Amino acid sequence: MASYSPTNKAAQPIRVVICGGGASAVLLLAALKEGAARPIAVTVMEPRDQPGAGVAYSTACPVHLLNTRACNMSVNANSTDFLKWLMRERPRANFNWGPEDFAPRQYYGEYLQSKLLGIRSASNIQLSWLRTAAHGVVARGHEWEVIPAQGASTLADIVVFATGNEAPAPLGTELSPEAQSLILNNPWEADRKNGIPSDAAVLIAGTGLTAVDVVAELLHRSHAGPIFAFSRRALVPRSHGAAVAFPEGLHRVFPASLRAIVKRVRELAGEDASGDRWRGVMTELRSMAPALWAGLDPSEQRRFLRHVRPFWDVHRHRIAPVVHARLSHAIARGQLTIVRGRLESLEHVAARAALRAIVRRNDCRQLLEGAVLINCTGPQAHPLRVANALLRRAIADGVARPDALALGLATDQRFRVIARDGAAQRTLYALGTLTRGSQWELTAVPEIREQVRIVARDIELFVAARAYAAAATRVPVEAQTSLAM
Ligand SMILES: Cc1cc2nc3c(=O)[nH]c(=O)nc-3n(C[C@H](O)[C@H](O)[C@H](O)COP(=O)(O)OP(=O)(O)OC[C@H]3O[C@@H](n4cnc5c(N)ncnc54)[C@H](O)[C@@H]3O)c2cc1C
Repeated sequence: MASYSPTNKAAQPIRVVICGGGASAVLLLAALKEGAARPIAVTVMEPRDQPGAGVAYSTACPVHLLNTRACNMSVNANSTDFLKWLMRERPRANFNWGPEDFAPRQYYGEYLQSKLLGIRSASNIQLSWLRTAAHGVVARGHEWEVIPAQGASTLADIVVFATGNEAPAPLGTELSPEAQSLILNNPWEADRKNGIPSDAAVLIAGTGLTAVDVVAELLHRSHAGPIFAFSRRALVPRSHGAAVAFPEGLHRVFPASLRAIVKRVRELAGEDASGDRWRGVMTELRSMAPALWAGLDPSEQRRFLRHVRPFWDVHRHRIAPVVHARLSHAIARGQLTIVRGRLESLEHVAARAALRAIVRRNDCRQLLEGAVLINCTGPQAHPLRVANALLRRAIADGVARPDALALGLATDQRFRVIARDGAAQRTLYALGTLTRGSQWELTAVPEIREQVRIVARDIELFVAARAYAAAATRVPVEAQTSLAM
């Protein structure tokens, strides 16, 4: 009987490089660990010192809570894994955690790190974690060369972009360096926020989730000074709470125009002081979002972004009731003021080492003065405007292109990146907010978990195909020996 030996690289483990080591990377690794029948060598490139935590879960502030219930945050769908981890590893003294609770985000970062430990010891994943950013991805025949900011390049069969949320577009770039030093353009930088004097007047550009985080953190540190947060519509994220079910409530208008969807949503939500009805509508809308988004033509998608998105954001991305209550109290006692208007200009008041924001609504201008301005205008999306060298270079080289609305990268329905020439890259994927253009709602863990399932299955198929090719090219040992003679 002939014995066989593998002859070439078809027999080697598939090499996957994930650029970005936040929650999306951990979810993908967990899915591969779960499903891969053969070994896969995965290299993650991530510049942060906390693996797995990313922007969202590297906060150490205890009042930065998840805005998703514990029962929806496990790395595997339909599992209570995260809840069990919380109860076991971070138990609460009186009432231990329940499925409906909103845990500190720091705990979720720790949970993701515990998952990474399990992945490191898995027999089917050979994990290398490199503490560096990826700066470029270049096609080399059937392989990719991934160029890091530091160190040597890595060759890969498959590359996944999982670079997550970018910093906001900077404000005040036209001002003097002295004035710019009063602006915190990256709202997630903890050190600079710690330096704000407790009696200082604080200006916040934006009233969304990041602004909520900043206000919660300032209040937690007993900030006593006034806080002014401004945005065009002055909409603040709504609170989580009870929701009624609307079986088939929206399915009846699908497929439909944006106008018909908005009309139906208004009808279903009705007059709703308690919030139970609109929350129920949003739950249903969330599950239908990809199909509804795909059913809108680009001009309707643009109209959604211009007119509906601010309302979508505050109703869909809700906050924990306790965070909402703290915010409401700060407003009620006059410490926090939400101002409606767009930022017209910023001025440096050198005599008082302060900044003045001129906020305009129609013909009215309001002058707001503060010792510091925190930029909470939301992550910059346009891949050509972000500072991320990887994305800019991928687009410049034609490896990728922005989606039609410049919300991120163009991808197909399997989240394969689309090149400049319009063809889907067979072995280059993108995950998370980068892929919002494809189905709009791809921000939170439950949606990314679904997305990752699709990408992991593709990778597993690739691994199986490679193993099949290896088997087909095996050469009998006797034949090899006779060839060598
Ligand atoms: C403040 C905040 C709070 C949130 N809260 C919740 C919540 O409670 N529940 C929920 O479900 N979702 C929440 N989200 C949504 C969040 O987007 C997802 O939950 C999740 O964190 C996305 O993970 P990610 O890995 O795609 O992105 P990120 O967490 O942003 O991680 C991406 C990583 O990529 C790295 N990176 C960037 N560029 C490069 C590069 N060129 N090379 C290598 N590495 C790179 C970054 O350093 C970062 O660590 C929150 C988001 C934010 C910003």
